[in-house]
Amino acid sequence: MNYRHAYHAGNFADVVKHVVLTRLLEYLKQKDKAFRVIDTHAGIGRYDLSSAEAQKTGEWQGGIGRLVDGALGAPAAALLAPYLEVVRALNPDGGLKKYPGSPLIARHLLRKQDRLTAIELHPDDANRLKAVFAGDFQARVIELDGWLALGAQLPPKEKRGLVLIDPPFEEAGEFDRLVDGLVKAHKRWPGGIYALWYPIKERKAVIAFRKALKQTGIPKLLDIEFEIRPASSEPSLDGSGMVVVNPPFTLEGELRLLLPALHRLLAVGRPADWSLRWLAGEAG
Ligand code: SAM
Repeated sequence: MNYRHAYHAGNFADVVKHVVLTRLLEYLKQKDKAFRVIDTHAGIGRYDLSSAEAQKTGEWQGGIGRLVDGALGAPAAALLAPYLEVVRALNPDGGLKKYPGSPLIARHLLRKQDRLTAIELHPDDANRLKAVFAGDFQARVIELDGWLALGAQLPPKEKRGLVLIDPPFEEAGEFDRLVDGLVKAHKRWPGGIYALWYPIKERKAVIAFRKALKQTGIPKLLDIEFEIRPASSEPSLDGSGMVVVNPPFTLEGELRLLLPALHRLLAVGRPADWSLRWLAGEAG
């Protein structure tokens, strides 16, 4: 377990992932009924953009750094507002010193009836996240293997909500674990919304992943692809993707407004594109 998210917090891939997360949460908030968010690979929740790690890569400057300075059209700006509000809440003096991780973003958007379960396996990270949510009865942090949590924590008692699966992809076999984990989780809780993050580094692995997902027979799968540059000769994060299972009916239309606006600000090399496609269901 060498992966440290502090090197990457706020990069383009975090921005896209966290924007999708906020749109899913905003949808869940349209009904009064309580929901639960389960974040299986939660990280530390709050990232210092002046830390040695963040400074070393400077990745956040190509992500949230570009977004806060960029001009967005009105429809995209309205859809991004809940996300940018969380970022601003963490930086009350203006500027950009801190960046929120997924559990903090989710927590910020919960209502009093909603709950967050954040799972983190790394003991130091789990302890830091516990400190962030100390005394908060709506957020529970569990030091546990996120893949096990997909069995143990599902279905949540609210029977409504979202599971974010955001593994570090530092070990071989992570794409397979993601598919197996989803199949196991979906059997336990077919009605949940699932958001799975994946890297676009090696195109062959991504194609195989999509094929494996289609073969699961899970009926509603929307795939979001966001490339910021053409394929590099050396392995590097040229893009990122998210698969949303049981997406709200509003999501596709929102993303068709958001993704081109984000792409204009975040792409660094051409040709690079974004796409949205149904791996199963709707148009699939
Ligand atoms: N979801 C976070 C966010 O968006 O702010 C970022 C998570 S980061 C990509 C992946 C995290 O998973 C790291 O904090 C790492 O320590 C943790 N991790 C690695 N293996 C894990 C496992 N098997 N179960 C739970 N957490 C794990």
